[in-house]
Amino acid sequence: MRIGFIGLGHMGGPMAANLLKAGHAVTAFDLSAPSLEAAKAAGATLATSLRAAAENAEVVITMLPAAAHVKAVYLNDDGVLAGVSKGVPLIDSSTIDPATARLISDAAHKQGNPFADAPVSGGVVGAQAGTLTFMVGADESLFETLRPVFSSMGKNMVRCGETGTGQIAKLCNNLLLGISMIGVAEAMKLGENLGIDPTKLASIINTSTGRCWSSDTCNPYPGIVETAPASRGYSGGFGADLMLKDLGLAVDAARSVRQPVFLGALAQQLYQSMSQQGLGGIDFSGIIKLYGDEN
Ligand code: NAD
Repeated sequence: MRIGFIGLGHMGGPMAANLLKAGHAVTAFDLSAPSLEAAKAAGATLATSLRAAAENAEVVITMLPAAAHVKAVYLNDDGVLAGVSKGVPLIDSSTIDPATARLISDAAHKQGNPFADAPVSGGVVGAQAGTLTFMVGADESLFETLRPVFSSMGKNMVRCGETGTGQIAKLCNNLLLGISMIGVAEAMKLGENLGIDPTKLASIINTSTGRCWSSDTCNPYPGIVETAPASRGYSGGFGADLMLKDLGLAVDAARSVRQPVFLGALAQQLYQSMSQQGLGGIDFSGIIKLYGDEN
């Protein structure tokens, strides 16, 4: 399949590389020269413009930082919708708000292009290994058409419902993740300060009712889980600033339906404080540092 791929950053770069490995022809575009070079080295053809990346594609995929970039890339005069042929399906895998996903979908449908919002979980490691989970907002026939494309980059793909529901699933999951990580950090630090061995405490939690991904796979206390970012100076995980962005999207989306998100809003402020302290680039489990700096 001829795939136009736009946005070759930490996630998009390895996703495009996996499409190439699966035998697809990828025409790639990014604003960053090093990202383009890496895509070329992986076997992609480089497009000279956004529009050119979309022009001959049978599917277009975008993996961009935030909603403003997605809007510009699809809707600008020289953007994807201006270049793409009628009927070509469009996939946006960026994490953005559901309202923007629906706006782009409406504009795409008006000119005869089906659109799927398909944010991912699994991080850079999952993007590299081709084990991402895609949360897809699309009608059933579009989802089935796109299944082989998703399976070249991921292991799980779930159809969440109509357009926008992929982003809703992603925001709700990350809202919970951001909160649960703070809960585990707080419990681990309290246990330490009250005098229990942190390894013992973690093993109790992980066989008790407090257990969750933040406790058993990505425990924020150093040395508990060997493969967790906490055990390598909080490097190489999911950056606190990305969590901050996702919580912002969740809080904004909640406002649009007038639902209070008491803990989500507090969690947002805590990650913001972490970011203000210059810790936005480290793994979000570094939130434990707010409870004392010795970790
Ligand atoms: P990134 O900043 O590394 O990559 C984004 C790329 O988009 C950059 O290479 C940038 O140059 C390019 N870009 C920006 N504007 C452009 C434009 N107008 N035209 C062409 N290219 C443009 O970001 P990332 O970490 O790859 O994340 C991408 C998306 O995936 C984000 O929405 C993020 O929230 C989401 N996400 C990231 C992770 C993660 O662990 N990094 C995990 C899950 C989801």
